[in-house]
Amino acid sequence: MQVPTYFYVIVGGGMAGLQLARQLSRDIFFKGKKIAVIDPDFEIPSKTWCFWEEDAGKWDNLTTTSWKTGRFVTPQLNHKFNLDPYLYKMIKASDFYTDVLRELKRSEDIILIKDSISKIDPVTRSAEGKKTNYTATHFFDSRPNPAYLGEGKHNLIYQHFKGWEIETEKAAFEPSEFIMMDYRIPYQNATAFTYVLPISSNRALVEYTFFTPFLTEDSVYEKKLKEYLNRILKISDYKISTTEAGIIPMTDYPFEEENCPQITKIGTGGGWVKASSGYSFKNTEKKVAAIIENIKHGREINHKLIDKKFRKYDGIFLDVLQRNNKLGEKIFTKFYTKNEPTDIFRFLDEETSSSESLKIMFSLFNFEFIKSFFRKTF
Ligand SMILES: Cc1cc2nc3c(=O)[nH]c(=O)nc-3n(C[C@H](O)[C@H](O)[C@H](O)COP(=O)(O)OP(=O)(O)OC[C@H]3O[C@@H](n4cnc5c(N)ncnc54)[C@H](O)[C@@H]3O)c2cc1C
Repeated sequence: MQVPTYFYVIVGGGMAGLQLARQLSRDIFFKGKKIAVIDPDFEIPSKTWCFWEEDAGKWDNLTTTSWKTGRFVTPQLNHKFNLDPYLYKMIKASDFYTDVLRELKRSEDIILIKDSISKIDPVTRSAEGKKTNYTATHFFDSRPNPAYLGEGKHNLIYQHFKGWEIETEKAAFEPSEFIMMDYRIPYQNATAFTYVLPISSNRALVEYTFFTPFLTEDSVYEKKLKEYLNRILKISDYKISTTEAGIIPMTDYPFEEENCPQITKIGTGGGWVKASSGYSFKNTEKKVAAIIENIKHGREINHKLIDKKFRKYDGIFLDVLQRNNKLGEKIFTKFYTKNEPTDIFRFLDEETSSSESLKIMFSLFNFEFIKSFFRKTF
């Protein structure tokens, strides 16, 4: 049987694979180059993506809602911050998948294939699928190497959460503000908080979230969500319309070391999830643009996709949280109250200069940071 051959093969039709496929298919430079996107099922997950950006952006036609103001709350503090010039935006995965898949299906150069890839061989430039094998000039691979779960020099904690989109009879939310972190419902000695995304005055996504080295049972999130709704928001009468749960690895594992001239790891598998925050939607847009620029300028496709300086900052932060998980509330209180929102977002976007970044790192000052700095440096 003849092995199907493509110019590019994208393994994984999830958030990163679909963003990449869409940008390649829209760019005249790649016209006529056949690109396969391979995924076992292209199933739409129950997810919402939030991200910040200045003014208008690429995904505005799909945005459910956006906010100009956020809050950071602890038992002692109710800190309101104005995001200007940024907006915090929310996109439902269902809207993203429906729109992007519809566009890709119309493209003459994109072929969506249902299959599961077990191995990519850079020497023969071929990928082994359950149904058949595929060859290509280059592979973009969104499967994370499970080695990141093992022991090593890197740190790993999990951002894990469960959320309910709820509807209330009476107005219960302030739709102009989202709550980034609310620490009023704690969990033992762990970094755990509630995240609130109001869509209207009687509809919101409320999530109970952990940044911890351990995972927990479903009943824990549910108990905490009920406690937050009853005790903090004083809501007893509500309907749950959708549920969202997830585990995001927050790690400084060097995923990009697997990149080679024939393979680029993308998405979570490429280290595109910001290790200290768990965000990757907007980061993916930027990495996809960088890949396309690299190709057009004849550079190696993987050229400068990861900034190791920022990974070092993330590593120190993760090390502190992995060893002293209860410090999360204190660290984030300093992060949100001692820095301007624009500096916070530019730092998380890896756009700050070295001196600006160090200023932010010093604002979090704690003896544990010094210890982690030395542990991660030497
Ligand atoms: C519930 C949830 C909410 C999140 N919210 C946010 C948020 O608000 N903002 C933000 O920036 N980030 C968020 N994230 C983090 C991150 O943006 C998402 O996890 C994002 O989906 C990662 O994109 P990805 O392409 O790496 O992985 P995925 O979107 O999971 O896609 C991977 C794809 O690869 C496919 N695949 C797996 N194995 C194979 C194989 N062997 N062969 C072929 N295909 C395969 C899968 O079927 C899947 O479609 C969230 C994560 C979760 C889990």
